[in-house]
Amino acid sequence: MKKTLGVVVMVVGTLAVSMAAQTTQDGWIAPYQPIAAKLIAESQRTDFAWQRLAELTDTYGPRLSGSEGLERAIDWAVAQMKKDGLENVRKEPVMIPKWVRGRESLELINPIRQPLPLLGLGNSVGTPASGIEADVLVVSSFDDLKARAAEAKGRIVLFNVPFTTYGATVTYRGTGPVEAAKLGAVAVLVRSVGPVGLRTPHTGATNYADGVPKIPGAAIPVEDAERFARLAARGVNVRVKLSMEAHFEADVQSYNVIGELRGRELPDQVVVLGGHFDSWDPGTGATDDGGGCVVTWEAVRLMKALNLRPRRTVRVVLFVNEENGLRGGNGYRDAHAAELANHVMLLESDGGVFDPTGFGFTGSDQARAAVTTIAGLLAPLGANRIGASGGGADIGPAATAGKIPTMSHEVSGDYFLIHHTPADTVDRITPKQMSNNAAAIAVMAYVVADVGLLK
Ligand SMILES: [Zn+2]
Repeated sequence: MKKTLGVVVMVVGTLAVSMAAQTTQDGWIAPYQPIAAKLIAESQRTDFAWQRLAELTDTYGPRLSGSEGLERAIDWAVAQMKKDGLENVRKEPVMIPKWVRGRESLELINPIRQPLPLLGLGNSVGTPASGIEADVLVVSSFDDLKARAAEAKGRIVLFNVPFTTYGATVTYRGTGPVEAAKLGAVAVLVRSVGPVGLRTPHTGATNYADGVPKIPGAAIPVEDAERFARLAARGVNVRVKLSMEAHFEADVQSYNVIGELRGRELPDQVVVLGGHFDSWDPGTGATDDGGGCVVTWEAVRLMKALNLRPRRTVRVVLFVNEENGLRGGNGYRDAHAAELANHVMLLESDGGVFDPTGFGFTGSDQARAAVTTIAGLLAPLGANRIGASGGGADIGPAATAGKIPTMSHEVSGDYFLIHHTPADTVDRITPKQMSNNAAAIAVMAYVVADVGLLK
């Protein structure tokens, strides 16, 4: 029997089975069937997780980095974890940026005066107090902007790029202001990164580059971007006035929140579950990512409530400042550098909590075979699919530094319809979805923490 790190030994009754044999001998999973059934039944018995998410989002609202709501929510989470009976509940200090939105407005000036919905982009600079009034240049891509470079100077550039995938479209929000500023534009509007909604703007972070003037950036609803494009195509000059008070203040003290269920045999080996506790400010941060925080936390609470303690420690981490800094993810990596070698797996839930479909996984072939077998226990929830890769922004820094296997919690549902909007509220999620996601994560985490994974 080897007990060296990464070589996992499990005992089934009196029979010891090396995990190396698991790919050909899936009988090892059988004893976990009744445990999975218990976790699923307990999770589905109540709407505890949904009520917790509702309490979090109703009481503390959005949790933008640097806000009072975030810090009060952090203290609430610590108190609730202690109430749950979790162990080693603590706040781990992280300095985070404080970006302040302030007041903001967008007014159509020509062809008619009309106030329009907008959301300034996170990390954006503001406008002068008197605002910026300029004609709008509508472009459909970076290539289109290049082709019309001579027209950009002194204008507000609108990137009217239809949503395809998040990765492909979000680049306009991230670097649109830099690309437009290089050509002398005075501000940027971005068609919201999401499918057609109900005239809802989507915020999100933008990034500036050294040596390029910082110009303000704001998102407008899909409908308004399309209207501007139609007007421009008819030869109508679209003129707007943009006013934003956005600015940064000095960094502030904040915290990652941690709670554990210590392992019964190998407590120094750790499975991490979590999401990010901060959110954007327009909604109440329910889907992104209060829900991910609560379902991973709930997974540990369910084990505790059922007195199911796996061999290794399961640790829930509510990471701070994912949205506009990733200081929580980086802070976790730094604070836990000495124990990263003992991390078995990191799992993040940050894709919404609609109907669970399974998990993405990145790790060794043997580990993939093991989690695929474990996922078989989740067939009753429809959560038995293991995707080609998995990870998350917050767990990324520790995973890279420690070469740790990673998982993403995966769901079906229209995440990007409400992502970073005023519509990101608890109403979009059902109690059954919260329960089923928590159950899926609990089963996966319990078995991984009990058997370990070959790195
Ligand atoms: Zn998120």
